[in-house]
Amino acid sequence: MVLLGKQGSGKGTQGKRLATHFRIRHLSTGEMFRDSAAAGVHAGLEAKGFMDRGELVPDELVVAVVDERFKNPLEVMPGFVLDGFPRTKAQALELDRILEQNPIDVVIDLDVPTDVVVERMRARGREDDTEESIRRRLELYDTETKPLVQFYRERSILERVNGLGTEDEVHGLLLAAIATRFTR
Ligand code: AMP
Repeated sequence: MVLLGKQGSGKGTQGKRLATHFRIRHLSTGEMFRDSAAAGVHAGLEAKGFMDRGELVPDELVVAVVDERFKNPLEVMPGFVLDGFPRTKAQALELDRILEQNPIDVVIDLDVPTDVVVERMRARGREDDTEESIRRRLELYDTETKPLVQFYRERSILERVNGLGTEDEVHGLLLAAIATRFTR
């Protein structure tokens, strides 16, 4: 499955819970970059400059990292929650190529109003959560990532879930939304 949603919508927290629930992998491209930057790995350091400014990491670099993960079946079997990828149309098309015969079952649009995610990002205070980068990321979400909602809706694999509420409430809504995909 794929989780779409603004930064601060709870994709990371909920993605981890879903992965635990379904005993599948949680794959976050942001986390991969943060880990590899901390380890001094080249791709991570290159990505960090973009991340700190609230820019998107270039598609080629992101796709190379995801491609590498998917080459190892142990990383993606028996399934996965993709959190923060794809974020552009180009990445969505690359994901189709990478997945080949194993298409995505469900894409979730975790919906939280902008003023709420801004407050959450201010509160979490991650290194890349400056006022300017928060503003820039929301702008890029609208222009680059939001069109993917329609892209997946046209494939009839999109579920919108209200991301306001307690962590447990949202988790429950996510499980219910996912269940409808498999009982139709
Ligand atoms: P996240 O952990 O999902 O909040 O991502 C943190 C940062 O990593 C983002 O602000 C981007 O700079 C970068 N990033 C993560 N995933 C992607 C992606 N799929 N495409 C481009 N940049 C990404």
